[in-house]
Amino acid sequence: MSQKNLRIDRIQKGTVIDHIDAGYALTILNLTGLDEASNLMTIGVNVSSQKYGKKDIVKIENVFLDEVQMAQISILSPNATISLIENYEVIEKKKVEMPRIIKKLIVCETKTCISNSNKEPIDTEFKVLEEKPLKIQCVYCDRIYKLNEIKFKPRRKKGKRVKQMIQL
Ligand SMILES: [Zn+2]
Repeated sequence: MSQKNLRIDRIQKGTVIDHIDAGYALTILNLTGLDEASNLMTIGVNVSSQKYGKKDIVKIENVFLDEVQMAQISILSPNATISLIENYEVIEKKKVEMPRIIKKLIVCETKTCISNSNKEPIDTEFKVLEEKPLKIQCVYCDRIYKLNEIKFKPRRKKGKRVKQMIQL
């Protein structure tokens, strides 16, 4: 293991989200609802990375991500890798992939958009126009959103905040 990896404690069991675009770790935790988990988290912001210059990394004990969280991360940080850890070993490593079409995850903010109709609830659907910088378009009302304008559908609340944060 390289010296860089040693800067953040290894976890016994849980998830490591690595190669997050620098500065996006907290956004990801917030939008995926992971910051509501009561589990121990270690967050590295602006860690040196040979591949990307700087990156963020998040380690969460005893938490494995669901499909929705993986999809959210792929939208927020398409270079991210997600490793599942058991007994301090990586048992599975996945690279997230930006979808071409994003269904259900994101809210359209146009009031008159059909996806906001109460009479006939319809799942939101966005086309990815550009990956970097991200640009997506609502297939119903054609409104275009940039990364900082995206609103994810709210997840159920569990309470609790980030327990530990280290500055690297
Ligand atoms: Zn719309």
